[in-house]
Amino acid sequence: MGTRFRLFAQSPFVGFGTEPEIVAVSSPPGSVGAGPSDGRMFVIEPVGKKWPYGMNRGPLGTPFVYLPQWRGPRLAPALPDDDGNFDYLEPDMPGFAAAHAFGSARFTLDVWENYLGEEVDWHFRDDFDRLEISILPQWDNARFGYGFLEIGSQFEKDGSVLPFALDFDIIAHEVGHAFIFSILGVPDENAEFPEYGGFHESFSDCVSLIAEMHFPSVIDQVLDETSGNLYLSNRIARFSEFPGNRQIRDANNTRTMDDFVDGYRNEHDLSEPLTGAIFDILADIFQESLVDRGLISREVEQLAEDVEFGGAESAELQHAFDSAYADDSEGFAQALADARDVMGAYLAETLWDLDPDFLDYGDVADVLLAVDERETDGRYGDIIERNFERRGIGVVCAGPRFEPKQQGSLPSQRAVLPRDRFWLPRMSYRERFVLSESINRNV
Ligand SMILES: [Zn+2]
Repeated sequence: MGTRFRLFAQSPFVGFGTEPEIVAVSSPPGSVGAGPSDGRMFVIEPVGKKWPYGMNRGPLGTPFVYLPQWRGPRLAPALPDDDGNFDYLEPDMPGFAAAHAFGSARFTLDVWENYLGEEVDWHFRDDFDRLEISILPQWDNARFGYGFLEIGSQFEKDGSVLPFALDFDIIAHEVGHAFIFSILGVPDENAEFPEYGGFHESFSDCVSLIAEMHFPSVIDQVLDETSGNLYLSNRIARFSEFPGNRQIRDANNTRTMDDFVDGYRNEHDLSEPLTGAIFDILADIFQESLVDRGLISREVEQLAEDVEFGGAESAELQHAFDSAYADDSEGFAQALADARDVMGAYLAETLWDLDPDFLDYGDVADVLLAVDERETDGRYGDIIERNFERRGIGVVCAGPRFEPKQQGSLPSQRAVLPRDRFWLPRMSYRERFVLSESINRNV
């Protein structure tokens, strides 16, 4: 008994015939109101909002902090039906995007608060009671920040616009950033290593990956595509797919820390070795689970191990998986769900135990190993150690960011706080006037 939404489990932007599926989130019937909205968050579709939240530049170029809440006009909110559900909304109806964004965020909270063991307080609770989820279709990004989750669109060369509000991966990823801010927090000044930023992106990708694996259709599709040989490129490993086989990131990658010893371009690139290691650990735990259940032999597991890091497809291996999967597809689905839950629980514990100061990926490996030791007496210790080592994690660290910020560039967007107003240069009266005109009147 929950509240029903229609969600696209995977990006609707690839392939034809992707249909949203009806999902019940944990909110009791009747508890989600117009917007949608509840006690923790609400969705708006502002009309005439000129800037995304965060740090912006005023009409004369002076930086200013722009934070919720939006007080201007907005599109009509999505309304629940008589039973409190939103699944009557179809993709071509007004309000669908708002309901999809809310349902995706709520679904991700359900999955992860279960692993985290409690309801997570927003890190901005001192200033805002609720998260404002703002849909800003003309903006080419998505961001979670102080009091907001703002969602734009992808603009394609052919002129089409792919709204991120319909992309579960992106919304779940942004909710992942919320967990990090609330539970791990931010490092002290002068205590931030480059890998803190990489961890933010990697963990958030894992939040989306694990959340997505809670749609039964996703588990079935992944297994049907691969017969359980997860190293074949498949849907769950790719984040936010777009037409033409593009995706924002690929968990099934071969990046190692050696690629970053001289430095890194952005934290998304830097996140790839860590995400790759975690994906490989998940795949290895899944294989262990298949062996334990007698669904594949130890020899097949060993063969998978041999072809794993070379990225080569082995026909013999695939054949073994195909026939084993055909014998007991239900057993495979249970094994994959088990591996997902081990990984989700371990990552949640890791988030609680990590310290943001001087955090590097070696710390993530150490904490994950300690979690495994505590939970299962080190049952997956070899798997964890081996996969981190292969990525050079705990061996080498990332160098500094390439192309230091140009003079006058704006500070990190995600971490903008209300108090940042105090160190910014003061705007002239005229600039303030023009700005307030455009924010308040939304011209
Ligand atoms: Zn991110």
